[in-house]
Amino acid sequence: MIKVCKFGGTSMSDGMNFRRVAEIVNGDPDRRFVVVSAPGKRFGNDNKVTDLLYDAHTALEEGGNFHSAFTKVRDRFIGIAREIGLTFDIGAVLDECEREIEAERDRDFTASRGEYLSARVMAELLKAPFIDARDTVRFFEDGRLDAEKTFALVKDALKGKKRAVVSGFYGAYPNGKIKTFSRGGSDVSGAIVARAAGADLYENWTDVSGFLACDPRIVDNPARIPALSYQELRELSYMGANVLHSESIFPVREANIPIRIKNTFRPEDEGTDILPVEKYRFTGKTVTGIAGRRHFTVIYLEKSLMNAEIGFTHRVLSVLLKYNVSFEHMPSGIDTMSFIIDSSLLGGGILDRLCADIKEAVHPDHLRVFDDIALLAVVGHGMSRNVGTSARLFSAIAASGVNVRMIDQGSSELNIIVGVDSEDYERTVRAVYREFFGE
Ligand code: ADP
Ligand code: ASP
Ligand code: MG
Repeated sequence: MIKVCKFGGTSMSDGMNFRRVAEIVNGDPDRRFVVVSAPGKRFGNDNKVTDLLYDAHTALEEGGNFHSAFTKVRDRFIGIAREIGLTFDIGAVLDECEREIEAERDRDFTASRGEYLSARVMAELLKAPFIDARDTVRFFEDGRLDAEKTFALVKDALKGKKRAVVSGFYGAYPNGKIKTFSRGGSDVSGAIVARAAGADLYENWTDVSGFLACDPRIVDNPARIPALSYQELRELSYMGANVLHSESIFPVREANIPIRIKNTFRPEDEGTDILPVEKYRFTGKTVTGIAGRRHFTVIYLEKSLMNAEIGFTHRVLSVLLKYNVSFEHMPSGIDTMSFIIDSSLLGGGILDRLCADIKEAVHPDHLRVFDDIALLAVVGHGMSRNVGTSARLFSAIAASGVNVRMIDQGSSELNIIVGVDSEDYERTVRAVYREFFGE
């Protein structure tokens, strides 16, 4: 049995937690390969090392005090090394990182040093070899992961090793230049190593006891989801349940490797299993989980006889393509059509220009823009088996006094997406949670 374990930032936040992680790994001989994040927050308003590194890069670029910014990173690692009684000279490794960061002046390289240092320290603590993701995780020139090459390189690096520690979050282009994944990307690194190792299980260790039915920062103590399918995970994580990076299922799904979410601080708790849908036993629950995100913009178009106008959608999509803007959902009626777009793609005057071009291209009777919309996804295979789910959902939202701006039911019947004003978002999550999970 091979288990690959990924430990997130809070699990690596100080020396005591490094020891805790080592104890978990040492407690099971199947835990062969370990992927680590950079140290995260130790307490509420603490900084993650990755954020400190981004600050240091900004200081370097904008003429701020780079050395004093880097000292904050140095102090974190010196502290950890001291607490665990590290034998190698962490000061010298930090000096080298500082010099390289100054020489490279590259944002991704700078950010990657958190995971690099973390993995080196953990390797020393576990007395296991360190594998640098720079040598094993490959990106194409256009920034996509070269999965085939990566799996082969990681596999090769792991070969013959009883154990190893791999740095998370980054890899490199063919020329060796470092590139990071998006934030939270060590989850993806863990999945890559699990796939390359042919693991039987990918354990993802974090600071909560599993995937919860909704964001614990909105509802106190939400129910744990004992098991969910890859598809449900994809929907929930993409829509904002950031306990697991939304791209982390791709490497493991093809090989049917299950993911288990576990709590580093309560290792005896059960956690959540994420499984291929064939292995997933229907729990009888209508809704598996709720997730959501703020900051969407809705562009709403209305035109009489839109349905009969050949090429209408095509012309609108061509405008989106021109501005390189992707959309999340496209709910439509006979004479209406809306595009739900992540607002961050529409800054810098793009929204105005895009709307002007759409008007020019299709001459709608009305074009309206709703900004600051939050989307809430209600996800579960059980929804298609239980009649009346939408009625329950919308009555619960109406009873809480919230106005629904948009509805989109996925064709897979795995999710219903509801758009509400951002200011109503938390209230809606609580109402929906109460309806489907309340006592
Ligand atoms: P790590 O540093 O271990 O990768 P993250 O901070 O990325 O951990 O993810 C864990 C956090 O995700 C939890 O502390 C919790 O606040 C948040 N979270 C949001 N939605 C959920 C959810 N549905 N279930 C569990 N945790 C969630
Ligand atoms: N350290 C990186 C971040 O803070 C990656 C990760 O923790 O997964 O986003
Ligand atoms: Mg994370």
